Amino acid sequence: MKHGPRPAAYDILFEPVKIGPVTARNRFYQVPHCNGMGYRDPTALATMRGIKAEGGWAVVCTEQVEMHYSSDITPFIELRLWDDRDIPALARMAEKIHEHGALAGIELAYNGMNGPNLYSREVPMGPAHLPVATFSYDPVQARRMDKTDIANLRAWHLTAVRRAQKAGFDLIYVYAAHALGFLHHFLSRRYNDRTDEYGGSLENRVRLLREITEETKAAVGDVCAVPIRISVDELLGEGGLERAEVEDMIGLLADLPDLWDVTLAGWENDSRTSRFAEEGAQEPFISGIRRLTNKPVVGVGRYTSVDRMAALVRKGVLDLIGAARPSIADPFLPKKLQEGRIEDIRECIGCNICVSGDFTQSPLRCTQNPTMGEEWRKGWHPERIRARESEKPVLIIGGGPAGLEAAHALGKRGYDVALAEAGTELGGRVTREAKLPGLAAWARVRDYRLLQLHKLPNVQTYLASRLCTAEVLEFGYPRIVIATGAKWRRDGVGHQHTSPLPIAPRAVVVTPDDIMDGAYPAGTRVLVWDDDHYYMGGVMAEALAAKGYAVTYATPASEASTWTRNTMEQHFIQKRLLEAGVEIIVSHTLTAIAPDHAVLDCVFTGRQKVLEIDAVLPVTARLPEEMLLHELRAADLAATGIESVTAIGDALAPATIAHAVYAGRRYAEELDATPLPPDTLPFRREITELL
Ligand code: ADP
Ligand code: SF4
Repeated sequence: MKHGPRPAAYDILFEPVKIGPVTARNRFYQVPHCNGMGYRDPTALATMRGIKAEGGWAVVCTEQVEMHYSSDITPFIELRLWDDRDIPALARMAEKIHEHGALAGIELAYNGMNGPNLYSREVPMGPAHLPVATFSYDPVQARRMDKTDIANLRAWHLTAVRRAQKAGFDLIYVYAAHALGFLHHFLSRRYNDRTDEYGGSLENRVRLLREITEETKAAVGDVCAVPIRISVDELLGEGGLERAEVEDMIGLLADLPDLWDVTLAGWENDSRTSRFAEEGAQEPFISGIRRLTNKPVVGVGRYTSVDRMAALVRKGVLDLIGAARPSIADPFLPKKLQEGRIEDIRECIGCNICVSGDFTQSPLRCTQNPTMGEEWRKGWHPERIRARESEKPVLIIGGGPAGLEAAHALGKRGYDVALAEAGTELGGRVTREAKLPGLAAWARVRDYRLLQLHKLPNVQTYLASRLCTAEVLEFGYPRIVIATGAKWRRDGVGHQHTSPLPIAPRAVVVTPDDIMDGAYPAGTRVLVWDDDHYYMGGVMAEALAAKGYAVTYATPASEASTWTRNTMEQHFIQKRLLEAGVEIIVSHTLTAIAPDHAVLDCVFTGRQKVLEIDAVLPVTARLPEEMLLHELRAADLAATGIESVTAIGDALAPATIAHAVYAGRRYAEELDATPLPPDTLPFRREITELL
């Protein structure tokens, strides 16, 4: 059935797919993904998943669900199914998913050697005596499982399966992927050195996966589907699981599961950022799976190109288009496509801010979708926003991500909005940063909003309009939003130095803004001093190296771009810098800049290093562009009709693009809202019930 002016070529994506005893209504499948909410924020999480179902996804899955207390992945906050008392939280999620006609999937996980058990204090178990494989090198070892342990684990899995069924799930996963659980570890020679019937040959290493899948299938009967999630390659060469071997494993099990969910391992390879992988980077690894089984196959690839998705199905690579990030950036992707509204799709930019929620144990955030994680807490919806509550127009100054999102959301509410931008292009920092190496996809933050603004006749945009205080006063709008952004500091103030660095008079100091303006320094040797620790320092080093400079990158941290551990990019960044010939100096603080040299102090010993350089590029912190704000606050507004002057985004306090988009949305959501009574939190939260 056609639902709108959708190109016929995309109809294939809306065909139903049988997955064992259940049927997905179309081919859009939200694969399991972490979100930093888990057991701490169950209703917020359930509501978020429900919105995906409302947005048209046919299958919506949980993140990994700890199936037994003897394997906990603390400090990460995932879901738990340790005993019957965990069932209601999961049942709430399944209900929310069912309310909108989607199937609910649950990924049961027993982390084994990945779970340091910092909460339960149980001894972790795995196929062999080995240190736990965690991101933080926990000083804990897993013990080798014996036959009783294996029998126990099989029984625990079955108990968890029954609980999952009770909670109402339609798909119950057997999870053997991402090197994140015992089944993966048993498959892999890297972890499995056993000489019993569970180690050695391929058949032996697959045995436990086979047994657990068979038992799960027998337990769920013809009510639930049982997918296997497996990693096709670990990209570790012969040291790890490789495609040929995994294909043989899949061949051995062929039609046993109801669905094959295929990924890369580890997670950092499966969810690479756009800086390090194109859309569909997994394709060469997953394209051979379909011929090994008669069961449907789902895989991911940060797919937002609809042609590409349709081609994957047509070519027989995938039966279901898996998505985590594209479903976070746009929970309504399937519905928009179904209705032929392709231009309304908010495409994922591949920045992995979403992943950082999991790593920092905070609720999922998304650069593109500021409502993500706020669906229940604040009642925000990715597609709906309440109508305006006054006729008063709004003047927004600055067309970066904060100003654009404020204009977009206020426009949708029906407010008359004037958006004034000093430059000749909209997008602010995303337009500028998208020109830097590897960041092109970030322009989507601007592009989505521009397309939306074109549909809003009540939003007027004025380019090349750098407003001064007098002009703002003349404008006569009662609400003023200052979204003028920020500029990189030149004085070295940052995390390390809270007052300016000694910089000799003739020393050459350039900022990231200079580089983005094309103002490269004279000379050949540049020191990039990174005391910001997110992406910009590394990107600057990369940009300068590409221009032929001899680049030294120094940081007080123990590795390049250290915060990008939270976006799973750190390893890739350091590798790229080293391969580009950038010299990396860690654990050193810049203490003085002279015309021909810079002084770096070891953060431990204070021992000094003198570097001969021609210029220094400090990437430390930014300062808000707040002159307009201060002048307006100082002006006599009484006679002007101006009621409020509000700084948002980087103009208030510089942070990530995700923060700026969120700030724009927040302004729009809160405008004319009934003020909260004193002492009321601006969001809802759940509190653990005291026993
Ligand atoms: P944010 O991330 O908070 O959105 P950006 O730095 O990306 O901030 O964007 C700020 C935008 O504001 C830039 O495009 C800049 O050109 C614009 N801008 C700064 N000052 C003025 C001004 N006085 N009038 C109009 N636009 C301004
Ligand atoms: Fe995509 Fe970035 Fe949003 Fe994650 S945070 S879904 S990577 S846009």
